[in-house]
Amino acid sequence: MTARTDVASPELMPGVTPTPLALLLLGRQSDPASERGVDCPGDLPAASDPTLVARARAAKAALGERVFVLGHHYQRDEVIEFADVTGDSFKLAQQAAARPDAEFIVFAGVHFMAESADILTGPDQKVLLPDLAAGCSMADMATFEQVEQCWDDLAAAGVADTVVPVSYMNSSAAIKGFTGRHGGTICTSSNAKRALEWALTQGTKVLFLPDQHLGRNTAVLELGLSLDDCVLYDPHKPGGGLTAQQLQDATMVLWKGHCSVHGRFTAQSVADVRERVPGVTVLVHPEVKHEVVLAADLVGSTEYIIRALDAAPAGSSWAIGTELNLVRRLAKAHPDKTVVFLDKTVCFCSTMNRIDLPHLVWTLESLVEGRVVNQISVEPETARYAKQALDQMLALP
Ligand code: SF4
Repeated sequence: MTARTDVASPELMPGVTPTPLALLLLGRQSDPASERGVDCPGDLPAASDPTLVARARAAKAALGERVFVLGHHYQRDEVIEFADVTGDSFKLAQQAAARPDAEFIVFAGVHFMAESADILTGPDQKVLLPDLAAGCSMADMATFEQVEQCWDDLAAAGVADTVVPVSYMNSSAAIKGFTGRHGGTICTSSNAKRALEWALTQGTKVLFLPDQHLGRNTAVLELGLSLDDCVLYDPHKPGGGLTAQQLQDATMVLWKGHCSVHGRFTAQSVADVRERVPGVTVLVHPEVKHEVVLAADLVGSTEYIIRALDAAPAGSSWAIGTELNLVRRLAKAHPDKTVVFLDKTVCFCSTMNRIDLPHLVWTLESLVEGRVVNQISVEPETARYAKQALDQMLALP
């Protein structure tokens, strides 16, 4: 592996007002309106406690079938070890829905995933996020108020009636609710093509939220649209920075959001790895920039990446452009292949990494003691519309 691990996480400075993109330090700050969550009230065990693994095992055994632990692929090894199932956000949402007997769903992932699990599970089930500061910077890039403003701008341009919203799974429950309310669908990186095709049978334009890169890559590379068919709506500019004519002419209105992890890869990263590793196949996630997908050999979702490595012949070489915890795990699982990280520098998802063993132990032990901590609960009206959009995704042709 060529990745460095000595890069500091972003921090809030004392006395500085949090910005929508700032990440919270150690789960101690508070912003209930954002994906970053609110204060983590726990009296956490020390990370250096040598009994943490034994404590997690004991608590999980004591809870038995009452608890089901979901682990996202980008989680740390120390947490994945305790997951009953691992997967991407969509697979984990399905798994949560498929466990109606589990009283507690502990979600080792980020906030929007736990929200989706709450929406898809029964009213008596409780979804817990071990650290409430485990948010998603991409989801934070589209707030409900901003998206409502965008809809007003589309209406002012006379095109709102022709627009179908398509929202990536990586969005807040509020944005999923907006999507359902306006007859749209949720999508994942695996079914984005089908979601766009369906949306363009329901209307003539798509508002794609919140990841511009997934929207652009899918529209151009899989649907055959041109870059000129896409416009970029910037929520920080009046009218999104677009004229009414631009909104009228566009087929894809892309929201100006991105993943801070996948957005780091560049076409130069691809050129560099081709020099470092002769004969390498470059495989990237569709959340990377368009220029990176064009320079790579293959593009696909997290589950696609895992399957591609499983099917690859021994002796083959791969450079993977996705989150580092997953790439490290793939390298370990395939010692007969060369698996390297696409970039030279670290590319962990800092918010995914908030979930660590102390938080997991604290969550499980609290449940053993009869205390439900860090429960994620979506307001019923929002949940109802968000479920409509999720159900539409499940019904995609
Ligand atoms: S990897 Fe990117 S999209 Fe996924 S949780 Fe982290 S910031 Fe969000």
